[in-house]
Amino acid sequence: MSSKRKLPELSPLLTSFLTDKEAKAMRTLGLTDLDTMLRQAPRRYVTPAPLEQLRDLHVGMHVSAEVRVVSVKDRRMRSRKGHILEARVTDETDEITLTFFLTNPGLVSWHRRTLVPGNLILVWGTVGWDKVAERPQLSHPQYEAFEDTEAGRIRARRPRPVYPLKQNIALNTVRAAMVKALNHVEKLEQPVPRELLDRRGIDRLPEAMRLLHQPLTWEDVDRGKRHLVFEEAFVLQTIFAQRRVADARTPAPALRADGPLQPAFEERLPFALTEGQQYVGAEIAERLERDHPTSVLLQGDVGSGKTVIALRAMLRAVDSGHQAALLAPTEVLAEQHHRTITELMGDLARAGQLDAHPDATAVRLLTGSQRTAQRRRTLLDVTSGEAGIVIGTHALLTEGVDFASLGLVVIDEQHRFGVDHRRRLRTKGPGGISPHMMVMTATPIPRTAALATVGDLDVITLRDSPGMRAGVESFVVHEDHPAWEQRMWQRAGEEIAAGRQVFVVCARIDETGTESDGVDSPAAAVGARAAQGRQPVLDPETLGSTGQQPALPARGVTETAERLRTRTELAGARIAVLHGRLSTEEKQAVMERVVAGEVDVLVATTVIEVGVDVPNASAMIVLDAERFGVSQLHQLRGRVGRGGHPGIAFLDTRAAPGSETSRRLEQIAGAADGFALAELDLQHRGAGDLVGDEQSGLGRTLRYLDVLRDVDAIERARKDALAVVDVDPDLLTHPDLVAAIERRLRDADPEVERS
Ligand code: ADP
Ligand code: MG
Repeated sequence: MSSKRKLPELSPLLTSFLTDKEAKAMRTLGLTDLDTMLRQAPRRYVTPAPLEQLRDLHVGMHVSAEVRVVSVKDRRMRSRKGHILEARVTDETDEITLTFFLTNPGLVSWHRRTLVPGNLILVWGTVGWDKVAERPQLSHPQYEAFEDTEAGRIRARRPRPVYPLKQNIALNTVRAAMVKALNHVEKLEQPVPRELLDRRGIDRLPEAMRLLHQPLTWEDVDRGKRHLVFEEAFVLQTIFAQRRVADARTPAPALRADGPLQPAFEERLPFALTEGQQYVGAEIAERLERDHPTSVLLQGDVGSGKTVIALRAMLRAVDSGHQAALLAPTEVLAEQHHRTITELMGDLARAGQLDAHPDATAVRLLTGSQRTAQRRRTLLDVTSGEAGIVIGTHALLTEGVDFASLGLVVIDEQHRFGVDHRRRLRTKGPGGISPHMMVMTATPIPRTAALATVGDLDVITLRDSPGMRAGVESFVVHEDHPAWEQRMWQRAGEEIAAGRQVFVVCARIDETGTESDGVDSPAAAVGARAAQGRQPVLDPETLGSTGQQPALPARGVTETAERLRTRTELAGARIAVLHGRLSTEEKQAVMERVVAGEVDVLVATTVIEVGVDVPNASAMIVLDAERFGVSQLHQLRGRVGRGGHPGIAFLDTRAAPGSETSRRLEQIAGAADGFALAELDLQHRGAGDLVGDEQSGLGRTLRYLDVLRDVDAIERARKDALAVVDVDPDLLTHPDLVAAIERRLRDADPEVERS
């Protein structure tokens, strides 16, 4: 499919100086203009390995050495077509032969141009054994001539860029193209004002690009990267600053009313609000009262009781004569919210019915798969204002749903949503008035990470959890130990015997197909984050595999359900399956049976990851746990232990005990809460994945910024961006910055318009 897609065109400038081969490579890599091309930082650099002396060599070693050519000879091979070229080289301690088998005679003279007796070369390769001469040799080593001066030696030892490659593009093609592009470095857009860079002691862009692509030292690499890091932080912070300015210029319905729904609702709440819920509620109410739209990110661990907070805010909107919308990432979750909320509100949600409370409003569910007639009726209620609270999925965002007077939008479980999708809702308000916005997430992020990725939101954190929530204990189970695995299923059986329910989660639907139902790609998950260190490597081409053993295919829902039917530990258990390929009705029916307690074991994909609330579920078994992301595992285990019974979560894996993967799972199992996990997640996956895998958005596309490492850069960029936007809110004097912002927003999400 993708191979058939047409490659993007190059800008005229690039076409003017690249060869056809280089141009094709740039198009394949998507580097279609000078700005994107030169901002493609090398993935890593290689230096010739620590230099060896020839007398210390032994067979099998990767070596590099500075040597002088002693003699060169070539001869035609007798047994097959081609030539052998041999060069004897010395470094004073010993000699060795460099051997090349060349089918093309032209290559002989090519090598002979550099391999001239007396010339100094840096050579690197793997030491082999010359069976005929019975001595060590370097077969097809790489080499490069250098000058016999201090500068020459420094140059020879320089870090060499290694660029991300695709298909059969050769590294040297990309290197050559980059070198040519550097000739035009002065034509680059320079989004960060120069005075600002000078003040911060950061190299200006042209110099930074030279250092990044053609460094002589590691310090050069750092200086080049430093610019890109700051530039990225600065562009993002400018976007956030502009959004805040835009918000301050936009009117919003001030949600000031305190009754009558809110007190009536609180009276019937079956529990007392926690201190945290009260505090957060007050913080939110204070912002909703403003007559400019507020954007709040409410973060609270799984099960901390965010729904009630959202509901109270929504009731405030209705009390103030407006409507509120609650958006969930899946239909299952939207339906569950609808159920929970209508239950919690009781007759307060039954406007238009005989048994309604006198102050009641109508709560409506609007999903993509509803029947036309029902949908039309709901839309009518939304447009007329009859429906005070509307609960739905993405459909609410993407379709032209007209609200009578939308005062508040709540987005639940934002980590599965495009962060920036919410900006689209800004157009939903009546007559240029923007609704307030509240985004809820159970994947808390540390402060600087929030600043870097969602800097236009006020972050409010819910720190406690309702006491009745019993909590979850997690364990890693290695299938290498059959006794552990057996104990795990036994334990599941015990929960069922005690009248409780068990969730079993698989990474895919079937073991044969490729359908994964929205699971992280294994590489992005617990597996090792690509080492980007600067350990000297001989040459990318000589690098073997990453040392990972081929993974066994993940278990599927269908097959797992079948297998569980024959497990003696679960004899007699009622087993059901749930995954994304079922129709909405089927899914709904399964969830209803689960909620009604008619299912003992639910085998599912991550469709149950987010927000599913079955208080009677007490055990969770995640098969092939290493295939899931950290926050996913946390979400998943948050599905159990929600009622009065303590939950137990098993992270089942076939990874070897003691392996890196297994160690990571242990860390996850041991992390106390979402906050501890967020830190872990950050360290292991980097900020790019902070806000989840499926979403687009600014945070998703961080390229150079590392929100742990670059705390200072983020803080500084924020200060600088605020100052720039303060003086020139529309950036009239910063055309390059405007261009960079547009580029950034387009990359983040092609469908999101600016601000
Ligand atoms: P989350 O923050 O993960 O969305 P929920 O809002 O679903 O959590 O709440 C988890 C459970 O805790 C729900 O069953 C909810 O009714 C209950 N709950 C919420 N607040 C309280 C409270 N103050 N006291 C007791 N139970 C509460
Ligand atoms: Mg929730």
